[in-house]
Amino acid sequence: MDACDVMVIGLGVHGSAAAAALARRGLRVVGCECSPSDEVWGASAGPWRMLRVTDPQRPQLRALGREARHCWDALAERRASPLIRATAAVAVGARSVVSERVGRSSVIAPDDARLAGLAPAVRAHGAVVDPDCALLDARAAVSALRADAVAAGAELYFDQLVNLAEPAPAAGRLRLGDREVRADRILVCLGAEVIELPVWQRPAGVRTEPAIMQHAPVGSSAGLDTDCFYLLDRGTDRFCVIPLSGSVQFGHFTTPAASGTGRAQLSRAAGRRDLTALRDIVPGWRGLREYSTAASAYTFTADGGFEIYRATPTMATLVACSGVGFKYAPALAERVAAVLVDGRGSDDQLRVSGIGPR
Ligand SMILES: Cc1cc2nc3c(=O)[nH]c(=O)nc-3n(C[C@H](O)[C@H](O)[C@H](O)COP(=O)(O)OP(=O)(O)OC[C@H]3O[C@@H](n4cnc5c(N)ncnc54)[C@H](O)[C@@H]3O)c2cc1C
Repeated sequence: MDACDVMVIGLGVHGSAAAAALARRGLRVVGCECSPSDEVWGASAGPWRMLRVTDPQRPQLRALGREARHCWDALAERRASPLIRATAAVAVGARSVVSERVGRSSVIAPDDARLAGLAPAVRAHGAVVDPDCALLDARAAVSALRADAVAAGAELYFDQLVNLAEPAPAAGRLRLGDREVRADRILVCLGAEVIELPVWQRPAGVRTEPAIMQHAPVGSSAGLDTDCFYLLDRGTDRFCVIPLSGSVQFGHFTTPAASGTGRAQLSRAAGRRDLTALRDIVPGWRGLREYSTAASAYTFTADGGFEIYRATPTMATLVACSGVGFKYAPALAERVAAVLVDGRGSDDQLRVSGIGPR
């Protein structure tokens, strides 16, 4: 039986970042993931993620956001293929967002050219432009983190579906092909699938809500600036539109699409609803019909933040999959490594909860 210090189960953006951070500290790290090595599944799937240093809805995460941005920039510099696309965010119609000037942001008037494609009722509120934003190529970002982990000495295994309800993983043992690996510590990073874990392995109060991301071809940007992404707030309706060249990515963010249905059903219903909203918001895209969807889920801890839950002295579960969590991954991973390696406790960005019942 081979031994390692930490086994990371689930290599989405957070598991991959944690594997890299732990391996950089000189630990023997084994990671396993159920997807093939060249694919990204789970909540980290899909083309682009908004990267904002400051999320006005979460001012307490500003320091983490800044640190994460440095990490992404450093990672991007080491990569041959681009990871980050420079953009600005334009927040429209959100009274709370518009009234809060953050970073180097400034208020823009309803007749600003960047809002030209928006329906008059939407742009009447004016907007805030935050230049400290960008888009992350989600697939390239996860691949880069996985490559970083391997470069730091981690062994990553793919096509490995782990059943955490079985006693072997909980006891720190896992069969990987013809190897049996024993780990001193296990870090579970299952994203929204955390909800499937036996109750004692997850923090109390975790819930998930279906979320959906859509991607559709469009003839033109319809007057929206392709160097910006748009955060639209219409009361309880919070919407994100990313105009790309020849296509658009869109969907609701932070607001759950619906509840009480299965993911497949929900993705159809939410897909239709978001498409209708998009046509309404950007009249130039009225003809938009065709779209593809990636049904996924947001995961929330009881207080909406990030949490590492020590189920047993050897097993910890990370819940890091809020609707905004991608951007924080490399910085959060450093906190996770500090908790696992140095036994350091919480700060206000990563709540550590105690050892649960077996
Ligand atoms: C629609 C949508 C839009 C979003 N937009 C943004 C955004 O613009 N900006 C932002 O910062 N954040 C955004 N987020 C949030 C962000 O994407 C998530 O917080 C983040 O991807 C979660 O990563 P994770 O590693 O925790 O989970 P996941 O990416 O779900 O990783 C879990 C991994 O575990 C694997 N796995 C599951 N079960 C097993 C098993 N039994 N054995 C082995 N492997 C297993 C899965 O295949 C997966 O790779 C968005 C999320 C969604 C759903």
